[in-house]
Amino acid sequence: MRGLCLWWVQLENYSDMRNLNLDDTIAAIATGLGEAGIGIVRISGKDALAVADKIFVAKGGKKPPVFKSYTVHYGWITNGAAEIIDEVLLTVMCAPRSYTKEDVVEISCHGGMISIRRVLDLVLANGARLARPGEFTQRAFLNGRIDLAQAEAVLDIIRAKSDIALKIGMEQLRGALSTRLNKIRKKLLGALSILEANIDFPEEEIGAANLEETGEKLKEVNDAIKDILDTAGHGRILREGINAVICGKPNAGKSSLLNAILKQERSIVTPIAGTTRDTIEEIIDIKGIPVRFVDTAGILEPRDLIEKKAVQRSKKYIDSADLVILLFDASKKLSPQDTLLMGRLKNKQTLAVINKIDLEQKIEKQKIKQKFNPVIEISAKKIKNINLIEDAIAQLVYHGKVSPKETVLVSNLRHIEAIGKTQEFVAGALNSLDNKLSLEFIAQDIKDALLYLDEVLGRHFSEDLLDRIFDDFCIGK
Ligand code: GDP
Repeated sequence: MRGLCLWWVQLENYSDMRNLNLDDTIAAIATGLGEAGIGIVRISGKDALAVADKIFVAKGGKKPPVFKSYTVHYGWITNGAAEIIDEVLLTVMCAPRSYTKEDVVEISCHGGMISIRRVLDLVLANGARLARPGEFTQRAFLNGRIDLAQAEAVLDIIRAKSDIALKIGMEQLRGALSTRLNKIRKKLLGALSILEANIDFPEEEIGAANLEETGEKLKEVNDAIKDILDTAGHGRILREGINAVICGKPNAGKSSLLNAILKQERSIVTPIAGTTRDTIEEIIDIKGIPVRFVDTAGILEPRDLIEKKAVQRSKKYIDSADLVILLFDASKKLSPQDTLLMGRLKNKQTLAVINKIDLEQKIEKQKIKQKFNPVIEISAKKIKNINLIEDAIAQLVYHGKVSPKETVLVSNLRHIEAIGKTQEFVAGALNSLDNKLSLEFIAQDIKDALLYLDEVLGRHFSEDLLDRIFDDFCIGK
């Protein structure tokens, strides 16, 4: 999808689309490009109904400017020469109760590249301009319908790679994080106002009760932030997933294992395109964790240049892996290749898996168990004990502490970092308070804490930050 979006962007003069003029009426294809039952062209802005009026003929003859909000109309899109371009449904959502808080018209046309593009071209020729990536959501934010954390949740929802990642995104969009941050903000402002009142009237000694109240508020904030950040580690994993590399000597059964996992877990999220001949990647939802499995070449001593490259790639994968699944062949004695791999992986989070337990077993299991824990015995061919690998992955990720059903409040790295900074400044303020430093000092720490908090919510932002966030979106969202 992103590839298609980029392709679309290249069709237009990208730099022309950088200005952020909220007076413009914008339009874009809101659905995926390609053949489909329907495709939607979305228009937003003060002229949305006027643009629709120029190109839409309703069956009953009514004109779009008189359509009521939240109504759907059957009719045709025509060009000036009275040629019918498509038979459509037109949905009207008037400001301020729409996605962008502006007048929004959605034209549901027949899916397919040509019909939908012709409808969009007509919309653009009649007063709208092509929307930038994420510009609809950006307007929802700039017009105050959602805050920045909620806007980012929209992207998380579109990109969710597991049911749980989707749930986290939905909760963030519904304001789970924002509500907590706003409560924290209120407490920080409360603490700040006590301090500032005393800074403004220095002749009156600040009362011990006032200082105590400030300290109480800061401690509550500290605890609340801790609760949020405690969910961050798992949040990131659930959102972004982990990389698991399957390695082992040739014929150990690496491809068979990946196939067995795929067979058992039907929820394949993304088969990754562009895999090389020596590595295969699949993202699989395992107990709510998106796990990116990479099946490496298994070549240890390269015989030619191509194999040398494959080995280098495998090494790179192993280095960046969150988890390595080291596969052994139970029907053979440990080979020098096995021993070499065991040595190389001693500093990596490794799951040792002995495959082919359906055959006569010759492998020295004890030697493996001395080095690794846990050691799982499976048969990839007979699909036996594959669930133990999944249990072990979940166990390693959650450390047996958190169940994937628990609420995750924060998962986005930008949020985690900014909330972490807020926590640092709150800790600084508490420290200054304990050490009876000047009130200005404490107040400054609280102001800095607020600054970072407001960055998450988008109460203040740089254009650069907005560009970074919204450039990741597709056009049409
Ligand atoms: P890779 O080179 O490590 O990817 O190994 P493959 O997955 O291609 O498997 C090598 C051979 O071992 C194939 O003939 C598989 O059918 C066989 N094999 C894989 N797993 C098992 C197993 O659990 N039991 C038995 N009997 N054979 C297996």
